Amino acid sequence: MSFPDYFRVLAVPIVVTVAASCASPKNDSAMYELRGSTMGTRFVVKIVADDDNGMSESALRELVESELMLVDGLMSQYRPGSELSQFNRYNETTPFAVSDETFEVLAEAHRISAWTDGAFDITVGPLVEAWGFGVASEMEPPSDAEVEELRSRLGFARLRLNVEAHTVQKDEPLLEGDLSAIAKGYAVDRVAEALELAGFPRYMVEVGGEVRTGGSNDAGTPWRIAVQRPDSHEPSFQMTVPLTNAAMATSGDYRNFYEWEGRRVSHTIDPRTGRPLEHTLASVTVVTRWCMTADAVATALLVLGPEEGYRFAVANDVAALMLVRRADGGFDELLTPDFERVLSGEGVR
Ligand code: ADP
Ligand code: MG
Repeated sequence: MSFPDYFRVLAVPIVVTVAASCASPKNDSAMYELRGSTMGTRFVVKIVADDDNGMSESALRELVESELMLVDGLMSQYRPGSELSQFNRYNETTPFAVSDETFEVLAEAHRISAWTDGAFDITVGPLVEAWGFGVASEMEPPSDAEVEELRSRLGFARLRLNVEAHTVQKDEPLLEGDLSAIAKGYAVDRVAEALELAGFPRYMVEVGGEVRTGGSNDAGTPWRIAVQRPDSHEPSFQMTVPLTNAAMATSGDYRNFYEWEGRRVSHTIDPRTGRPLEHTLASVTVVTRWCMTADAVATALLVLGPEEGYRFAVANDVAALMLVRRADGGFDELLTPDFERVLSGEGVR
């Protein structure tokens, strides 16, 4: 970026903050930082531009925002007009055609549902809603009978995907697709890939805590991404993780919950019991190549809990960090061998 460009960008009010990097004086690299809101949360994109490829910061912002808006427009369950909302309202058992993008996410969600034997379950939505985390629901637990009724009618195996036709079919009209635990990760992947295609291999993309990085940061070293300490009072860091060409996602019980009769009701539901998680696992961080996968697998491991989840992660070569709540308020760290490799700078397999 040339000098006059730098000043022009600084003159643009708030949202876009741009800082010229002084880390590599030889080449003219610059760091762009874009911030905004999407999918009910915040996004941050940092781009290290090594040379002037003719793209202005407003064009970069447009590139980033168009990907985010595309995913939100298709997969939001808060937008009545989204493709997902239309599918969820479709109470028929005949095939429903969806876009390539939505199909890609549904297919990955379905694959992870099967892989984790339903700990991740793409059809959990009506239960999430019943427990008070829906679009319009009261934060109050459902009756046991309601939980049983829903549990007996839901299940990812009742949602059939046709890969050739890109259609989805409900065996049970009540079924809905819940992409909340995977769509943010997919949005991160789309932004990352759009940046790579546009000639920007060095970036950090974050949507609501789900991150993907490309290349190195403005100092020429791996990006360092912080894992939050799962403490709902004040944000602080448990550790930082070096990431190059990898994605990291965290699922926790500490951000979205309510208290009911002295108990914490979390927004992550164990589809096998139909009830919110009650174990001591406070958060799970997963590092993989794709943010969509990291996002969903983090939720799956959180559901599986500290013992079963850890065993699953080790057996399947998943790089995972689990933070287990101790009685004294502190956290024990459980790291899989693949996560140790990531910490030592070897990256993901
Ligand atoms: P966060 O990263 O914000 O903690 P997650 O990525 O874990 O959130 O996703 C939580 C959301 O996923 C819930 O609000 C709900 O819509 C959905 N969800 C809850 N339980 C499950 C589950 N067992 N499998 C798949 N999705 C779930
Ligand atoms: Mg998730």
